[in-house]
Amino acid sequence: MIAGQSALDLLNTVKYRGEVDNGDRFNTFSDIVQWALLADIINDKECKILDNQKDNSKHVTLFDQLCEFREHFRIILTPESNEKKQVEKSIQSIENTIAQLRPSIKINASTSSLQKIYPINNSSDLKSRIVACVSDLLENRESHTIKQCSGTDCDWLFADVTKAKRRKWCDTKTCGNLARVRKHRGQ
Ligand SMILES: [Zn+2]
Repeated sequence: MIAGQSALDLLNTVKYRGEVDNGDRFNTFSDIVQWALLADIINDKECKILDNQKDNSKHVTLFDQLCEFREHFRIILTPESNEKKQVEKSIQSIENTIAQLRPSIKINASTSSLQKIYPINNSSDLKSRIVACVSDLLENRESHTIKQCSGTDCDWLFADVTKAKRRKWCDTKTCGNLARVRKHRGQ
């Protein structure tokens, strides 16, 4: 995970959208479950609950919905690279999906602080958890400097948390290194 935000790492589960064979890491619902565990969106116990769900037709639907949601989210974060009509459509879709969230609410009696919780009991709860994660990022959009990697064959997004805001690469060891080699060879 290199983006510094799980919601952005969700977008980087596609290797490179500039190619037909885009290297999508998500092929089945269980790939999304495994990714969510790695991204700390769910814990081990919640992962086991999801692994034990066996409703395959529901998984196919959820898989499609989550992949579609991911692509709409990618479009609204990069409006300059997309047609205005498409951006509007994606905004509408993301708004509708977020509006469907039904969190459990917990108010702490001693601190009176409110917490929105998305418990994991069945497969569709994973969708809520992921959508909530994206919703959090969008709610605090102004506080994040989101950039696209400068690599030639890379379009990964990341949050630049450096003070100078000069981070250019998704990963200095991969894209950054490749750029250094190219510069050295004068390409
Ligand atoms: Zn990169």
